[in-house]
Amino acid sequence: MTNVAVVGGGAVGTTAAYDLARQGADVTLFERGELGSGSTGRAAGIAYDAFAEDVDARVADRAVERFREFSRQGEFEFRETPYVWLAREGDEKRASAIREQVPRMRDHGRDVELLDPDDLAAEWPALRTDDVAVAAVARDAGRVYPETYPPLLASKAERAGARVETNAAASVRTDPLGVEVDGEERAFDAVLVAAGAHTKRLLADAGVAVALKPYRVQALTTADGPDVPLTYDATGGFYLRPYGDGLLAGDGTEEVESDPDDWARDADDEFVAATREGIAARTGHDADVTDAWAGLCCATPDRDPLLGELRDGLFVASGFQGHGFMRSPALGEAVAAEMLGGDGIPEFDPTRFTGDEEFAIVEGMTVEE
Ligand SMILES: Cc1cc2nc3c(=O)[nH]c(=O)nc-3n(C[C@H](O)[C@H](O)[C@H](O)COP(=O)(O)OP(=O)(O)OC[C@H]3O[C@@H](n4cnc5c(N)ncnc54)[C@H](O)[C@@H]3O)c2cc1C
Repeated sequence: MTNVAVVGGGAVGTTAAYDLARQGADVTLFERGELGSGSTGRAAGIAYDAFAEDVDARVADRAVERFREFSRQGEFEFRETPYVWLAREGDEKRASAIREQVPRMRDHGRDVELLDPDDLAAEWPALRTDDVAVAAVARDAGRVYPETYPPLLASKAERAGARVETNAAASVRTDPLGVEVDGEERAFDAVLVAAGAHTKRLLADAGVAVALKPYRVQALTTADGPDVPLTYDATGGFYLRPYGDGLLAGDGTEEVESDPDDWARDADDEFVAATREGIAARTGHDADVTDAWAGLCCATPDRDPLLGELRDGLFVASGFQGHGFMRSPALGEAVAAEMLGGDGIPEFDPTRFTGDEEFAIVEGMTVEE
């Protein structure tokens, strides 16, 4: 039986731990805080399968399928909610990107279609549509409360035989392969580093360079709000989702590398003001903001994840840009399969980079290609 350590109890690490354990691996998951206390607990919980590249579409399709499966089991809610993305009049660049993406998504079997502004208004009267040049809708989409996912997957992993250690900060050791926790060296046959924004630093401390850059993004919630789909206003550069009785809105990307141990947890005033204006422009609703925060996402040079084996027995799962939560059920499953001898996802092979590449951070949730 393979003796495996998973470092990181976010959406990806807990999924991988569950899939490893249910297939017979001897798994220990280490989480330095509480489960979901990293980026997953700060995410917006928007999930969809509207991706134009073949591999992305397959991954997202599988992720939505698993979210639905977990939801049917009754311990977690994936609430079916269409995803609409749009470009405004005058923004020809993004409008033509949307027109070009939709047929490619359909070629990959995605249930997406272009909507003219009148159809959009008819389906969602609360959305302002008179400034919309083009919109598209994906029906295989939904919303979840992301903080509920890691505890669920960790408990499934435990039921499958895994050990879950929280408040257990791990360092990675490569020779011999293992982790050090509370001053104790523990040897493992394989180690998966799924430590979100800390992945680069943890691996660097072990002498392994990876092409990752953490960066800050922001979100807020409102006390009340109209009935909207999951909405991405590509021209305005922000998204909306229903959240309790109100809305959750976000983006506010800071395209500079953040220190994973030293970054501003609260949202910037400018972000809050601009997002309130965006909500008002898109829905006519003057939002009363109840909470506003920041979190870290992780960029890679080509905006695809680093997922797979870095060197003998040492695996990584990070670099998901703004799309790590929605793909986690599939990404965790794929890296677990690779650790057990399968192929993984060749396009996301982390050794395609040396780790010393210079690159700019480009926000993940964008329709510009
Ligand atoms: C405001 C915001 C909104 C977002 N919205 C969405 C969205 O709607 N949809 C979407 O798909 N994505 C969204 N994202 C991105 C998403 O949050 C991430 O891509 C995803 O949560 C990454 O999951 P993860 O498991 O890789 O990382 P994390 O959730 O960060 O998990 C890594 C874990 O590793 C732990 N850790 C770190 N160092 C150590 C160590 N030394 N030892 C042990 N444990 C360690 C951390 O405490 C953490 O819990 C959003 C992000 C933010 C910030």
